Amino acid sequence: MTIALVLLGYALLLATVGVAVMRRSRWTERAPRLGIAAWQALSLAFVASLVLSGLALSVPDLRLGTGLAELLQACLVALRAQYATPGGAVIGASGAVLALLVLARCVWSVAATLSRAAMDRRRHRETLRLLGSQPHRSGAVVIEHSVPAAYCLPGIRQEIVLTSGAVDTLSEQQLHSVLAHERAHLRGRHDLVAAVAIALRSAFPGVPLFRLASEEIVRLLELVADDAATRSTHRLVAAEALLNVASQPSPAGAFAAGGAGTGERIRRLITGVRPFGRIRAALTGGATAALIALPVGISVGPAATLLDTACCATDPVAVSHAEICEAMPTMRACLND
Ligand SMILES: [Zn+2]
Repeated sequence: MTIALVLLGYALLLATVGVAVMRRSRWTERAPRLGIAAWQALSLAFVASLVLSGLALSVPDLRLGTGLAELLQACLVALRAQYATPGGAVIGASGAVLALLVLARCVWSVAATLSRAAMDRRRHRETLRLLGSQPHRSGAVVIEHSVPAAYCLPGIRQEIVLTSGAVDTLSEQQLHSVLAHERAHLRGRHDLVAAVAIALRSAFPGVPLFRLASEEIVRLLELVADDAATRSTHRLVAAEALLNVASQPSPAGAFAAGGAGTGERIRRLITGVRPFGRIRAALTGGATAALIALPVGISVGPAATLLDTACCATDPVAVSHAEICEAMPTMRACLND
């Protein structure tokens, strides 16, 4: 029960203090990849804390890390003790329901989001075929439209789409920058990163953590692609290119070069980004890893100290060795008799 409450308290801290700290953080502009990892860690640690607290309620004193026979024996003992009383049974069942619901909702939502995005892209490719798109020398496809725009369609069949307006408007260097931006989206499978964040927001619409995480992750993915563009062209060229294709939002299931937050991105490209520094990056990476490691440590830590203790010897409702063998005759415990 104590471990479950600690984990629930940790989840609450992540959803309040953790979110407040991340919202005020300006370092993510300088290290967008780390920023994405931090938001992902915050979300994952929140989900893990809820699931592990549910498990801690349903299977008290679960001693992870022991041998399989000892683990099952400990489980059986703990479960019998827990469910021997009506109150304990209600708490245990509630914990199991919480863990299962959170896990099932996450898996369902991620699968639904990925499937919806794939369907949107399939429809979009069919529309492109109907429009009679033309291949560009860069490998991108060009559709006839006067408004300058560029976007990519991720997935197994990756494509970059340019409008004829973009081809006519952008200089050679600007076009190079836009293509580098789109290729960074495709190469980094930014669609999958965004899909998981959006799926968590859809799965738990009442949790501000997931809403903010998805907004920030999508925004930071654009910064990652902008940084990739500045490695192949000058940042001012990248800013000019972005300004030219800024007006068009991203089609469903695609990543556009322009779209929301473009003003801030152009300002960032014009002013430049100060290097984040290796030591600071290492410290931030360590703190990010600790966010996820903590709920696991809270769950496993107390059990680790009990590894050498007898599982059932002092338990008032301990199951006898004979009962274990009767229930699971193939267990190593029985073979060692
Ligand atoms: Zn983009």
